[in-house]
Amino acid sequence: MLNQEIITVFESKLKESLPSSQRTSQLDHRVSMEVLPQVIQSFLTWITGKAATNEKIKPKNSLVYFTKVLFLLGIGVYTSIIAITLQEKWSLLLLLGWMLTVSALRQLQVVVVHHCAHKNFTSNRNLDRWIGKIVSALILLRDFDSYEKSHGPGHHRNPLDAEDETVKFLQLLVNLQPGLSREELWQRLWKSLISPIFHTRFLAARLVSCFGSKDTYHQLICSVFYLILLVSAGISHTWNIFLVAWAFPLTILYQISTCLRLCSEHLWPPQELELDSKSNKRDNNSKATVGIFLGDPVPDKKLQYWQRLRQWSWWWFRLFFLHFPVRIFILVGDTSCHDYHHRHPGMDDWANGIFARQQDIDNGHPGWSEPYREVIGLFAAIDVVFTSISLLEPLKDTEAQNAIHRVYIVGKSVEN
Ligand SMILES: [Zn+2]
Ligand SMILES: [Zn+2]
Repeated sequence: MLNQEIITVFESKLKESLPSSQRTSQLDHRVSMEVLPQVIQSFLTWITGKAATNEKIKPKNSLVYFTKVLFLLGIGVYTSIIAITLQEKWSLLLLLGWMLTVSALRQLQVVVVHHCAHKNFTSNRNLDRWIGKIVSALILLRDFDSYEKSHGPGHHRNPLDAEDETVKFLQLLVNLQPGLSREELWQRLWKSLISPIFHTRFLAARLVSCFGSKDTYHQLICSVFYLILLVSAGISHTWNIFLVAWAFPLTILYQISTCLRLCSEHLWPPQELELDSKSNKRDNNSKATVGIFLGDPVPDKKLQYWQRLRQWSWWWFRLFFLHFPVRIFILVGDTSCHDYHHRHPGMDDWANGIFARQQDIDNGHPGWSEPYREVIGLFAAIDVVFTSISLLEPLKDTEAQNAIHRVYIVGKSVEN
């Protein structure tokens, strides 16, 4: 395909996901949900990641949020311990325990550590730094200072740079290469999620970047914490609890969640839209991200009674058994508005990204000629990303790529 054709396909694919400037129940699935009782509207805003019309911004309280996440982590681990101790019919509780634990761990990374790195988690720079440092060490991330240094100037300058950690993760660990078909990219993603090799390499990269960090505090905090955990498990003969309630969600499940999230995080615009090009760098930057919202439009009220009943049952089923797990397990925190974050990094009120994004759209997105775009559903978002990757020119030197692929874990860190 010619480059111009590629750009046309890319643009048309994006147009399918343009948000309407006027929010009506026909065009906006979240607005259609406003027929449901007022009392559940905040819940719907949380689960879809999108505000209702005229919904009020809530004041940000970072420390309350942080406490809630730690509480969620405690509840998650405790639920898993109950399931392991009581066994038999209580074993099913383990699924809930794992889900809550992973949700909390992911929120600690994508919200707490991330916004600490932007110096806007709390209003206190020092506090942000220490929260970032401690949390990074406890959940096996790279040291906070190096993450902070690479994230702001690096990732936000160009999220598609070959040296960007997310790009490296997708290319070298998940083996997603430009020019592969969408089907092949999906296959590689599914294979990675269940592959022991993928998980071992991902974990090895985390352990190397965490325990091999040059930051003495980071090394000290993670070494002491894990030494205490291991010794306690050894003395009390509770290895099963340590492995099942903590190690498994922190490694395998956390890595599955991260992988699915990173596959949906940035589109890869065609080469002529390269983000290094000075003239349209800002607009190109905005083309690399879209809002990702969950939920479905509510059934048409003009339908006949039984048909409406069937469609409503299906709607509720999908809300609780598809959108809810995705929201809690993968698209946690403010990830649905990553496009807003890229337009306003460090300046945004992260707790109110949902509302701030809508406000920016309503005000005509000042300073940006590119409109905001959105996709409904995580898997639709991954599909859009994979389409953009499939439209790129294949890499010429696949041998060299494979060589990098094999040695990736040596001394390299990943943004997880
Ligand atoms: Zn990003
Ligand atoms: Zn950021």
